[in-house]
Amino acid sequence: MKITDLLVKRIVLPLKQPFKIALGTNFEYEGVVVQIHTNEGITGIGEASPSPRITGETTGTVIDVIENKIKPLLIGKNPLDIEKILDEINSAILYNSSAKCAIDIALYDILGKHAKLPLYKLLGGFKQKIITSVTIGIKGVKDTVLEARELVAQGAKVIKVKIGLAPVEDIEKIKALREEIGYDIKIRVDANQGYEPREAVRVLNKIEQYEIEFAEQPVAYWDIQGLKQVRDSVNIPIMVDESLHSARDAINLIRANACDIFNIKLMKSGGIREASKIANIAESAGIPCMLGCMVETRIGVGAATHLALALKNIKYADLDGHLFLKEDIVEGGVITEKGIDRVTSEPGIGVKLIKKVF
Ligand SMILES: [Mg+2]
Repeated sequence: MKITDLLVKRIVLPLKQPFKIALGTNFEYEGVVVQIHTNEGITGIGEASPSPRITGETTGTVIDVIENKIKPLLIGKNPLDIEKILDEINSAILYNSSAKCAIDIALYDILGKHAKLPLYKLLGGFKQKIITSVTIGIKGVKDTVLEARELVAQGAKVIKVKIGLAPVEDIEKIKALREEIGYDIKIRVDANQGYEPREAVRVLNKIEQYEIEFAEQPVAYWDIQGLKQVRDSVNIPIMVDESLHSARDAINLIRANACDIFNIKLMKSGGIREASKIANIAESAGIPCMLGCMVETRIGVGAATHLALALKNIKYADLDGHLFLKEDIVEGGVITEKGIDRVTSEPGIGVKLIKKVF
C-alpha cells in the first residue's frame, strides 16, 4: 500500500458555551483535519487541536508544517510502516506535537481499516469501556453547582472542576459542590498551572476534606521542583498535565518524584505511538495514567478513547472534549453515555464524516 495524497483543512466549530480555564477562555473550537489517501482506496482521518499556550501551535502553523514539511515525506510511503514514518517526521521536525498527532491518528486509522479491526483491539484490547470525567470550566460558585447538578442528572460519575484563578473562591466552590452532589460522585480538580506552589498547598490542604480524587497541574508547567514541593506537602494525589508531553518528560518526572499520576494527551505527545510509550514507562514506574484531551471532535477524542481502552495502565479518562461542541463534523469514534466512554466495532477510529470538509 502507498500513500497517494494528503489533504489538510482548518475547521471552526461553535461551542455550547464559552470554556474558561486558568490559562484563558475559548469561545469556539479551531482545529485542523487531515485525510491520508492510499492507492488501495483506504483513507485515514486525523485531527490536530493546536493550543498556543500548551503546544505552542496555531491552526496556521499546523497547516504550514503538514503541507510543507510532512506531506513531502509521506507521499509514496507505505502507511503501515508507522514507526518508520513517525521517526522520519520526528527527525525532520522538532515540537509541533498536534500537527504530528493528526498524522499519527490518520496512520493508525489506516492500520485499523486495513486489518478490519477497531483500533483498540489492535493496540491491546484491555477493556471495553471507561468512566470519563466531565469538566466544568471556571465560573462562579452558584453556576458551578447548577451545572454539576445537571451533569449528575445526565449520568456523570466524575466531575472535573477547573480552578486556579481565585484560591478563596476555589475552596468555597469545592465545599458547595460536595454538599450539592454528595459523596457517590467523584470530584477531580484542575488548576491549569494557576497557583504558586505555597498557594497550591494551602488550597489543596483545605479541600482535602471534600474527598478529592486528584489535583491536576497545580503549578507552572516548568516548575518541577514546585510540583514536588506540592506533592510532598499534600495528601491529594498530584497529577501532571502541562509538564508532561513526551516520554522523555515522563522519565524526568519519575526521576524527580514530582507526581503521582500522569495525564497523557495525544495533542501533547504527538499521537498514539508516543502516548503508548509514556503509558508503558509509567506502568513500569508504578504510575497510573489518565488519558485526557483538548476540545476536539470525535476524531481526536475517538483516537484517544481507543488508546484508553487498549492499555491496562490507562486507569482514568477525561475524554469529554467532543461534548463541548455544539456540532461535530463526524459521527462515531467515541460514544459517551451516562459518564462512560465506549467505541464502536467499526474498523480503525470508527468515525464517519457527516459534514463536507475536504
Ligand atoms: Mg489539565
